[in-house]
Amino acid sequence: MERQFTREIESLRLGSGEVFHGEGILAVTKALLQSGVSYVGGYQGAPVSHLLDVMVQARDYLDELGVHVEACASEAGAAAMLGASVNYPARGAVTWKSIVGTNVASDALSYLSSAGVIGGTLIVCGEDYGEGASVALERTHAVAMKSSMWMLDPRPNLGTIVEMVERGFELSEASNTPVMMELRIRACHVRGSFVSKQNVAPALSTLHKLEGPPQEFVYDRLAHPPAIFRQEKLKAEVRLPAARKFIAAHRLNEVFPGEASDVGIVVQGGLYNGLLRALRVQGLADDFGASRVPILALNVVYPLVPGEIVEFAKNKKSILVVEEGQPEFIEQEIATILRRADVPARLHGKDLLLMAGEYTTEVLVRGVSAFLKEHAAGLDASSGARWLEGVASTRKKAGELLGAMPARPPNFCVGCPERPVFSAMKLVAKDVGRPHVSMDIGCHAFASFEPFSQGNTVLGYGMSLAAAAGVGPMSARRPVAVMGDGGFWHNGLLSGVASRLLNHGDGVLVVMKNGYASATGTQELISSPTEEARRTAIGGGAVHADRRIENALTGMGVQWLRTVNNYDVGAVAKTYKEAMTTEYAGLKVIVAEGECQLERQRRVRPQVAEKLRNGERQVRVKYGVDEDTCTGDHSCIRLSGCPTLTVKDNPDPLRRDPVATVIDGCVGCGLCGENAHAAILCPSFYRAEVVQNPNLWDKFVASMRKLLQ
Ligand code: SF4
Ligand code: SF4
Repeated sequence: MERQFTREIESLRLGSGEVFHGEGILAVTKALLQSGVSYVGGYQGAPVSHLLDVMVQARDYLDELGVHVEACASEAGAAAMLGASVNYPARGAVTWKSIVGTNVASDALSYLSSAGVIGGTLIVCGEDYGEGASVALERTHAVAMKSSMWMLDPRPNLGTIVEMVERGFELSEASNTPVMMELRIRACHVRGSFVSKQNVAPALSTLHKLEGPPQEFVYDRLAHPPAIFRQEKLKAEVRLPAARKFIAAHRLNEVFPGEASDVGIVVQGGLYNGLLRALRVQGLADDFGASRVPILALNVVYPLVPGEIVEFAKNKKSILVVEEGQPEFIEQEIATILRRADVPARLHGKDLLLMAGEYTTEVLVRGVSAFLKEHAAGLDASSGARWLEGVASTRKKAGELLGAMPARPPNFCVGCPERPVFSAMKLVAKDVGRPHVSMDIGCHAFASFEPFSQGNTVLGYGMSLAAAAGVGPMSARRPVAVMGDGGFWHNGLLSGVASRLLNHGDGVLVVMKNGYASATGTQELISSPTEEARRTAIGGGAVHADRRIENALTGMGVQWLRTVNNYDVGAVAKTYKEAMTTEYAGLKVIVAEGECQLERQRRVRPQVAEKLRNGERQVRVKYGVDEDTCTGDHSCIRLSGCPTLTVKDNPDPLRRDPVATVIDGCVGCGLCGENAHAAILCPSFYRAEVVQNPNLWDKFVASMRKLLQ
């Protein structure tokens, strides 16, 4: 990974009394070290990638503390890593994107939560829910409940986040239960400060090692019959009461009083800032967060402490539960608690707020104002109604001014190596027909959108080949599965390739070997190019000397295997067509090789800049379109989709169709020329070399050209 986290790593070293400034997710990272964590693991994914990326780059410092950090091959591996805390008093933390990562980790989590832990364990879940989400929208809360793990949802300010991390470990140890912490996108990226504490070197660590396994063999720590029957009872009868006692004793949930004591709002901690904003626009909270409506902020959303709910609601006429996503677990639990305690307060929640989707300020203003209108008529919340009218009128005005905006689906980066493969697949489809294409998680899924429109299913990370298993036998045409190298190592090799070989199935698999887990931030994989290979590839050239993907495939028995250079569209098309039409009936795998352009540019640009500063000659390739030759049919754009290949007004007053043009930003990947050649398009593309710091020969050639013009 070329991105450097130097400043973030420095902030991890802050000592007692120093002030930490930064993002929520980095505050979590610092808090782990303040809590004396012995080991950290995880699998990258927004919005929590930073935690692991920073930890991995901070290895030297973590070695000083004796903290082990591991970039796991999947979330399942990360969850299983927490097994270290089952037998040993060592604190461990793992992180991943949820809900998807939690799904992958679920098997190990079930066993972990059954066995219980003696060292505190914290699972930091990036709750990827809402308008910025990139995965199926589900709540991690459900997993915490079904496995009897506790769920923290801290108020998005750095002080609370840090305190919840520290208390989370204590809660885990007090109740022998793994603790999850959900952090929404906004909580991860909220900026702020807190006063640091000294980091704690763990008692059990890479510097202070265990002498051996536990002296006494404890069968009860194995999640295996007959111990599981006892563990199931322990969860309900011992661990849950212990957790509730700890939560109440340490006041992990917070009550904010307000003058309107007849009513109250119970909110998930993570939504507290949004709620305050909604109250603020209604004139019911000030700039510093003082609310006129009492609030119970649940920094622990599971389990609830019945006594706290009853205490908050007992003298109120009504309460509103602000709980994002479905189903309404918290609201249902509160209803049960109030009913059992005979508390008469009216309960509102999903009847006034959306059942599904993100609780934006607008959603919250609507819900809260409906609640207050019914139950707190004395409060003047009219500014909320005016604010909503303002939003509606701005939206209307924008609609009138802008008209129907075209959809802007996500797209590959400029020069992405995956784009040419889909261009080739599109060309071949003209000859062999459109196949069923299973997509995977990763950058290549952008090809589901225009102009490629290829992709019929997305069923999980590394699952594309498995997802084609049922389609193949009932299709006249071979199905195609596409997965990235990240998905290949995460799950694809076993769930897809092994299963297909076991069942002697037909089909075509395209593995995009771009060298990294690109979609999550270009983290490294087992098959990433080595440092040496990257260093020696300055200014271009292939860096994928690594053949591990191919070796794994042949080792497992794949007999039809080809590696292609993505940017050679003609060769990719030829190989792909062969895979689609060959009489060989087994699995056919094409490894499509081309380094992630984003990562390549991060490496190459500073190197080029330095060379230019040193006065060294540099040649930059750029493609262009001859506007006199361009016919204006734009088939090149439909075949490429590169953001820097676009249109401009036709300079010929007698022609009305806009012409194609290449704008600044072209990285000279060569796809334009390749497509024009492979698809026999009009000959309007040209390749130019921009020479910077020209030498004497360059200057001579340039002057001769000028003379001959
Ligand atoms: S991050 Fe890399 S692989 Fe992903 S779209 Fe950009 S260039 Fe392509
Ligand atoms: S050569 Fe074409 S496809 Fe490649 S970056 Fe330039 S405009 Fe985009």
